[in-house]
Amino acid sequence: MKSALVTIPVTCRADVASSLEHRLRDLTLLNQAVWVYDFDHECVPWANAASLGVWQASNLKELQSRDLGKDVTDTVANRLRQYKADFERDESVQFREIWTLYPEGGPKTVEVIFNGFRLDCGRMAMLCEAVSDEKLEAESMRSAEALLHTSVMITLYSASGEPLYRNPAARSMVRKADEVLRDHFVSDATIRLLESASDDEIKVVANVHSANGQKWHDITARRCHDAVSGEHAWLISEVDVSRLKATEEHAQFLAEHDTLTGLANRNFVSVGFQNRIDQMLAKGETGALIFIDLDHFKDINDTLGHDSGDKLLIEVAGRLKTIVKEDESVARLGGDEFLLLLGPIKDSNYIQNVVKEMQELLCIPFALHGRDMSVTTSTGISVFPENGRQIGDLMRHADLAMYHAKGNGRNDFAFFSEDLSEAVVARINLESELVIAIKEEQFETYFQPRVDVQTNVITGAEALVRWNHPTKGLVPPDTFIPACEATGLISELCKFVLGQAVRAQCDWAKQGFDLLISVNLSPVQFGDDTLVEDLVNIVQENEGSPELLELEITESVLLGHDKQTIEKLNALVDHGFRIAIDDFGTGYSNLAYLHRYPIRCLKIDRSFIMQLETAKPIVELIVSMAKLFDFDVVAEGVETQQQLDSLRSYYCQEYQGYLFQRPIDFMSFTALLESQRILCA
Ligand code: C2E
Ligand code: CA
Ligand code: CA
Repeated sequence: MKSALVTIPVTCRADVASSLEHRLRDLTLLNQAVWVYDFDHECVPWANAASLGVWQASNLKELQSRDLGKDVTDTVANRLRQYKADFERDESVQFREIWTLYPEGGPKTVEVIFNGFRLDCGRMAMLCEAVSDEKLEAESMRSAEALLHTSVMITLYSASGEPLYRNPAARSMVRKADEVLRDHFVSDATIRLLESASDDEIKVVANVHSANGQKWHDITARRCHDAVSGEHAWLISEVDVSRLKATEEHAQFLAEHDTLTGLANRNFVSVGFQNRIDQMLAKGETGALIFIDLDHFKDINDTLGHDSGDKLLIEVAGRLKTIVKEDESVARLGGDEFLLLLGPIKDSNYIQNVVKEMQELLCIPFALHGRDMSVTTSTGISVFPENGRQIGDLMRHADLAMYHAKGNGRNDFAFFSEDLSEAVVARINLESELVIAIKEEQFETYFQPRVDVQTNVITGAEALVRWNHPTKGLVPPDTFIPACEATGLISELCKFVLGQAVRAQCDWAKQGFDLLISVNLSPVQFGDDTLVEDLVNIVQENEGSPELLELEITESVLLGHDKQTIEKLNALVDHGFRIAIDDFGTGYSNLAYLHRYPIRCLKIDRSFIMQLETAKPIVELIVSMAKLFDFDVVAEGVETQQQLDSLRSYYCQEYQGYLFQRPIDFMSFTALLESQRILCA
């Protein structure tokens, strides 16, 4: 016996039994089997004589003493709970179902009418009446079982939508037993779909009302006839797919949105933006695609670190969202590229106004890990239908215009026009030409002397790369360094220049000229994990010495106090390299912080030397601070004697400039050194 049963006082059961005996005495001699099932105690407290056959019990006492909860499966227990709940809700409700009982282990299938039956103590029990004892067909017995125990919710509705039958699963789901079909659906569109369908079987996933709130159900609706009345009816079976739907929606959201910023992504753009463009075009409206690329984002990422980069992207996304109207959209295409879809456009200045608003908004500094940074953008615009009707064409055109704006020195915007393509194609060609140029060593290192301000004696040289283009002749670095940085070729190029510089240095040393040679490093190279070992290897391979080499970096490299960058700088210094800050004064450096870094030299940017009169206080400050920290100072771009005289009076040590010599090739530089030797002798 089950332990739970033992706890029930026998007297209570005896009481229940004797009061039932009295209440149900009229049924005792009925030919049909009738019994009472006690939900709570899982037993039959009363049964008439005919029931004993059904239950295969020798007498009533024996049946009463049976623990029916013993072999009950979870699904049957659930169904029984459901009956109880149904009767509690509505005592007049009646169910007619085919049940298979297992009185003594063997199956006994009976069709039973179940009615709610309140015991004297107030608890809900169930009066069960076996309708027919006739042999039911095996097929219908099994299908009835299946109907009863399946988790598929099955309801038979009349043609006008009144419920005729619900299986237990459907009953447990529905808000109220008499809910009509129309009220079951959240949207009227679903019932309209069913009513208008010409097929006999319709499948639809729809939002429905349930006892547990709104759910998504996978519904199969079949036109049929009610087996009792023969009238038209609907057999509706439903499976709860809410979780699947939620997962699906989440997956769909993830597939169409950028996880970092939450904005729509490229996938969404190709479908969602196209739909919106189609809508506008169908109404004869015009709109625009705005392709936005953040300037120098790579520098921020490389120098302030990826966390700061990510933070900036999130904040930029937030600000971009505020400038578009309700029907307009913002997407992130990846990296630092964003796309706006504007329209309908009613005012000819609208696009410019939005771009201006965006530029101003991004100018307001972002706080990035203790640093305030504002952002400029290069923006390209294509307009539809003028520049195309397909999202692919419009994006390509806006991208070309953006590329053009970037080429214009950034912080700019451009509208697409046909001739823009040519300029951009030229840039793309340049990038592929550079790959060949590196392979075929079309580059040559030039040298510009670094000179002592007081004595005009050459103390060193800066290595500056030139491209010996097969058809265009000598190409200056400003036209191809950005492309090398963008394509990652810069590391190879740097190794090439460093190798030539070291070999030149060794040659000159053999001739008695000990010169400090400086080589430029791009900020991009600090993202390169093998930077330090690559540079050390090149110097070793060419039998040079790092102590005689200075690496010129820009202030942006120091910008973020990025741990890895500083580690690389320190490692380079540990290997003996000297570090100089190039173009000093143009970046964000705070002079007072410079002593934190392993720096040996400041190269004052040419722009200060060009307007030395007005920049005098700055140059003097730089020189005196540098003295304090024991840095060397080199003035760049000295073109006139007057500039040189001023530098002399500020006690600046060294200079470079056209006044003394332009960058020249190795042979010319060797000749220059020789001529100085003659001069000095
Ligand atoms: P930079 O490092 O500031 O180099 C100095 C630039 O100023 C050189 O231009 C030089 O020719 C020019 N210059 C020197 N004296 C004068 C002067 O008196 N007046 C004027 N107007 N200009 C003067 P260049 O050789 O065209 O190089 C331009 C830039 O390209 C360099 O600026 C540097 O940033 C970059 N670059 C050159 N070679 C390399 C390289 O091997 N690696 C990297 N990463 N960058 C390089
Ligand atoms: Ca330089
Ligand atoms: Ca410079």
